[in-house]
Amino acid sequence: MMIPLRTFVKMMTEMLMLTYVDLSLNPERYTGYKGPSAHRIWRSIYQENCFRPKLNPYESFPYVLSSDLSNMCLEKRVFYRAVSGLHTSINIHLCSKYLLSEKGVGFAAPPEGEWGPNLDEFQRRFDPSQTLAEGPNWLKNLYFVYLLEMRALAKAGPYLEQEEYFTGNPTEDEETRGAIRNMLGVIYNFPDHFNESSMFSGGKQASMLKIEFREHFRNISRIMDCVGCDKCKLWGKLQTQGLGTALKILFSGQWDSPESEKQFSVKQRVKRLHRTEIVALFNAFARLSNSIRELENFRIMLSSHSESPKNVFGGVPNAAGKTLNVKKEECSSGGAKPRLGS
Ligand SMILES: Cc1cc2nc3c(=O)[nH]c(=O)nc-3n(C[C@H](O)[C@H](O)[C@H](O)COP(=O)(O)OP(=O)(O)OC[C@H]3O[C@@H](n4cnc5c(N)ncnc54)[C@H](O)[C@@H]3O)c2cc1C
Repeated sequence: MMIPLRTFVKMMTEMLMLTYVDLSLNPERYTGYKGPSAHRIWRSIYQENCFRPKLNPYESFPYVLSSDLSNMCLEKRVFYRAVSGLHTSINIHLCSKYLLSEKGVGFAAPPEGEWGPNLDEFQRRFDPSQTLAEGPNWLKNLYFVYLLEMRALAKAGPYLEQEEYFTGNPTEDEETRGAIRNMLGVIYNFPDHFNESSMFSGGKQASMLKIEFREHFRNISRIMDCVGCDKCKLWGKLQTQGLGTALKILFSGQWDSPESEKQFSVKQRVKRLHRTEIVALFNAFARLSNSIRELENFRIMLSSHSESPKNVFGGVPNAAGKTLNVKKEECSSGGAKPRLGS
């Protein structure tokens, strides 16, 4: 007898005492999680796990200032910018799906409360005047991590195209495969991919750094277990795993040689990614895409206000993807640098 997938998942989650969560019913949005607990999490992510500049004049300051990035080598900068981009994405989501009014009691008021974009909250978080001029850099980091994950999707594309995407419903399976092929087609044609080839190319020191990179990332994932808000933890962990999967694709070396392409064929298939990693990767990329769209909405809202949108968006590309300010620096890895101001 065939057991439907949903029933199987339900049985397994009960057996293993797991919780089954439908992501579509639990959108990432404002939850009210803030204050010391949220700060402790971000502080330990940056202070303990993001590499610090060698010459750090602000020893007691847990966060990294963008002006200090030039004191860090390429790989460490990439790590910081990816984490910061994820932080930006989380905060844009909470600004764009903000609880504007509490649960309504009147006839016309929505029972769930009113949710929508909160422009003041967005400005508080990203306006240079309120963020020691860091806000626009944090926004650029969102584009940075988006490009990094997009590159991982392109690199693992031939492998991902061969996946089965088993949902339990043959029509949905076919639709999923078609949608993934379509999306990968668009990604392959993107002209300005992140270029990871110059990273970790400096011999023994570079391989030690790679191990450190992996350890730091695992630690961030463990820290996410301490997030004191279930919905934030759910999305935080999912996006961290998605980013971790992207880094695995880019730096594990499994996708580097042209010969490895042959192993993508169904017959010779070598399992390289777990189902959960693929799910996390697609969902993480979807979150970043959504943040970029929401950012564009905020740009439009700001331009219809009297204040110039340039204040917040200085140097940040618009939806048409117009350029970031490219900054090239000397770094340990040598060779060609990843593009887009890494
Ligand atoms: C894993 C996780 C998931 C979360 N998910 C949600 C959620 O779904 N919904 C929700 O409402 N809240 C969520 N939060 C809380 C939210 O991210 C903020 O922590 C909270 O709103 C308080 O914001 P804040 O203005 O005090 O600054 P925080 O966002 O807490 O930032 C702390 C400090 O980090 C620095 N900083 C801020 N942004 C960046 C950046 N992009 N790059 C580098 N440094 C930066 C600044 O110096 C800032 O003062 C989550 C928190 C965590 C840790």
